[in-house]
Amino acid sequence: SNVTETDTNLKHSAQSLGNRLFSSESRKCTLIPGHGIGPEISAAVQKIFAAANVPIEWESVDVTPVKGPDGKFGIPQAAIDSVNRNKIGLKGPLMTPVGKGYRSLNLALRKEFNLYANVRPCRSLEGFKTLYDEVDVVTIRENTEGEYSGIEHEIVDGVVQSIKLITEEASRRVAEFAFQYAIDNKRKKVTAVHKANIMRMSDGLFLRCCREMAKKYPDVKFEERYLDTVCLNMVQDPTQYDVLVMPNLYGDILSDMCAGLIGGLGLTPSGNIGLNGALFESVHGTAPDIAGQDKANPTALLLSAVMMLRYMGLNEHAAKIEKACFDTIREAKHLTGDLGGKSKCSEFTNAICEKV
Ligand code: NAD
Repeated sequence: SNVTETDTNLKHSAQSLGNRLFSSESRKCTLIPGHGIGPEISAAVQKIFAAANVPIEWESVDVTPVKGPDGKFGIPQAAIDSVNRNKIGLKGPLMTPVGKGYRSLNLALRKEFNLYANVRPCRSLEGFKTLYDEVDVVTIRENTEGEYSGIEHEIVDGVVQSIKLITEEASRRVAEFAFQYAIDNKRKKVTAVHKANIMRMSDGLFLRCCREMAKKYPDVKFEERYLDTVCLNMVQDPTQYDVLVMPNLYGDILSDMCAGLIGGLGLTPSGNIGLNGALFESVHGTAPDIAGQDKANPTALLLSAVMMLRYMGLNEHAAKIEKACFDTIREAKHLTGDLGGKSKCSEFTNAICEKV
């Protein structure tokens, strides 16, 4: 049957791993509204949080790149200071221009705060019909290296080399996070997803770290699967998977596929958990095709904010908002376009506000 509550006990996972956490006394959260539909869906989340009397204070920051003393463009110091102070934040999508000379802001934030584990819970929503109604998987993606290490160069004209970086340190800590997450959230199995048959050394190292970690967590079942096999199986019978852990690129792609299984990118939240803080964000991008038209579905960002509340220990507020959101979707009176409805983002938001 469908589940209506996301029991993402991230805080415990992070604490178990000895991460430096934000002070639970402080209830300030950094808000990065982002680009495209970011400001609209951020405003929706703020409105719902206010209606639900959530006892936090938002500290809104702009991350438009500024020129530093070295002449290079980077994230404004005020934004970095805010996350460093609060240790926790909610982030809207950021635009990444394609081409030379641009560095991804998302990548920069992940590196700055060492956000090593990207957690993406993906559960079927009650009352929203999709091909399968029992999807309940969590992809945990290594978030700082792999194919997204950003090390690329042109060797000679027309030949580009892009480095896939895998380290024992990063592989071990994301593997540890996955097993600890499984324990904390009463999950039964961790699947390591890899291509060590082809990338023998890099994925081989990642896999070895997962195997070693599995020995430390005998109560969690461990299995290894090739990425292509997981893709095939996931669309045939998603119920065979539980928690999945994998290198960066695989997780980026596989988690979008999982999102497709439950109704699309408008619904899926994520958390970036790190050594120096935690940033929660929707899986989707800036949706430039619908930006500024009050058409976006704020659910993904709202559920990311709900994950954030659980991370802060504000479980009752999290449960109340999550229920209001799921009830609104189940009633299907105020659905946004991506879910087959005709309502505006603001109408959907107001319907949730009335329920919290
Ligand atoms: P996208 O996720 O922005 O959009 C893909 C499709 O999904 C579009 O049709 C869009 O309208 C729809 N969609 C996405 N979110 C939606 C929502 N909340 N409600 C309704 N429909 C929604 O992907 P893209 O078009 O490939 O990327 C656009 C930009 O976003 C790029 O610059 C990309 O780099 C960036 N991006 C940023 C992040 C991030 O900040 N974490 C993630 C992915 C993409």
